[in-house]
Amino acid sequence: MKITTNENFRIIVLPDFAYLPTSFDVKQCNNMIAEIKRHVNGVKSAEIEYDPVERCSFCMSTWEVNQDPNDPDVYLGEPICCDKAQQEFRAQKKGYSLMEVK
Ligand SMILES: [Zn+2]
Repeated sequence: MKITTNENFRIIVLPDFAYLPTSFDVKQCNNMIAEIKRHVNGVKSAEIEYDPVERCSFCMSTWEVNQDPNDPDVYLGEPICCDKAQQEFRAQKKGYSLMEVK
């Protein structure tokens, strides 16, 4: 089955300009990064971001399905990564003919 995992985590740090001098610029951003590496000062917030990725729960490949309605071997919408995902898909579609699924 298709599952969604979160990947490519990153932390975004926003300087608190109410706390920092108005002259705060790129150079000072780089200085802040250096400070963050040592300890944290003048940081208003930090957020975690990530990219949700749809994967097969059996083989963990990126989720891809057949989109070719003329493929004689694989149902339209059937996962193409592994036999287990295909078997699960076909079990869910049991009772449907190849033409009905397409
Ligand atoms: Zn798979």
